[in-house]
Amino acid sequence: MLARRQRVLAPTYRLFYEEPLHIVRGEGVWLYDAEGRRYLDCYNNVPVVGHCHPRVVERLARQAGKLNTHTRYITDTPVELAEQLLATLPRELTSVTFTCSGSESNDLAVRISKVATGGTGFIVTEGAYHGTTETLSRMSPVTGVKTAPEVYTVPAPVGAQNVTEFAPRVRECIAQMKRAGVQPAALLVDTIFGSDGVASHPAGFLEPAVAEIRAAGGVFIADEVQPGFGRTGDAMWGFQRHGVVPDLVTMGKPMGNGHPVAALVARAEVMGEFAKEHRYFNTFGGNTVSCEVALAVLDVLQREKLVNNARVTGDYLKQGLLELASRHPAIHEVRGAGLFLGVQMEGRERTTRVVNDLRRESVLIGSAGRNADVLKIRPPLCFGRAEADIVLETLDSILRE
Ligand code: PMP
Repeated sequence: MLARRQRVLAPTYRLFYEEPLHIVRGEGVWLYDAEGRRYLDCYNNVPVVGHCHPRVVERLARQAGKLNTHTRYITDTPVELAEQLLATLPRELTSVTFTCSGSESNDLAVRISKVATGGTGFIVTEGAYHGTTETLSRMSPVTGVKTAPEVYTVPAPVGAQNVTEFAPRVRECIAQMKRAGVQPAALLVDTIFGSDGVASHPAGFLEPAVAEIRAAGGVFIADEVQPGFGRTGDAMWGFQRHGVVPDLVTMGKPMGNGHPVAALVARAEVMGEFAKEHRYFNTFGGNTVSCEVALAVLDVLQREKLVNNARVTGDYLKQGLLELASRHPAIHEVRGAGLFLGVQMEGRERTTRVVNDLRRESVLIGSAGRNADVLKIRPPLCFGRAEADIVLETLDSILRE
């Protein structure tokens, strides 16, 4: 399979792990390989309610057998989904646009923010990742791509000093822009700073940075593609931990539990400005089946109280990791909220070794950060205490070795 794959798939693709996995089936928090061996999935945030959740699969299949069309007809599911999404968001956010990926949502947010502000300058973090389009790849320095001339970077608020200096650095960026004759359009951040290596505490640190961009005439775009849909445990959306109301919110990944459905939600005045001169039609964005799937995900999140579980199990796992940190000097810091945890390790090589050793013990995690020296733990939200114990025990024994 590996040879066949390499023959036909573009060389831009990357596989996880020194010994890549050939996965054939998923169920809940488990993935199964071609030999029937099972792996604990501690990494996939997309299947948020668990791999192949029967309720989601059933509603997807039922809707696929009934109707699948686009947003140029009046259909029920996009309206129902928009209403349900808005009910989870602050009341200032009133207008939903459906897309098929986080990239499409962010790309649209960038367009809207330019029109709404008249600006062209963007501020992102040094380890940001925001998507695949031409525009977004040049706002995603973690990939090694050179940022566009009007994209300015600030160090991510990882570590105590960078947290307190985050807002002043945003202000400094704005001053630099102005000196270069660039009018600010937006501050765009992933509100859990996943690709930067996870930055979560103290909650509230985003607020003064958002005040800076607004004072300069720009808007705040909250990229909720990673933290959204309850992952951070205390709220549905990562920005809510910081007590701010964004101008634009983008979401995707977990929204369809693996099905490609994503969205952008905007304040009325920001979207209104854009809508004066622009139309938006996305062939698959807002299709009947995708919206039904997203409704099923919201339904399961609520029924199974998974946001609460993210908090309870996340706290338990974080405590366990802190305990490991007290015994293993290779762990420098444990960050994160809910079931989005980052374990700051000593060095890239060691981190890579731990990730691969865990995979050999059937525990799947990944790494993050500009130096790839952070263990990223980000399981489906149906992850329980028993699974957290497996992670802790396996990591403990690997670090002891
Ligand atoms: N924003 C963030 C923070 C992401 O992590 C990603 C995907 N890794 C994206 C945007 C892009 O989403 P997609 O891959 O669905 O286009």
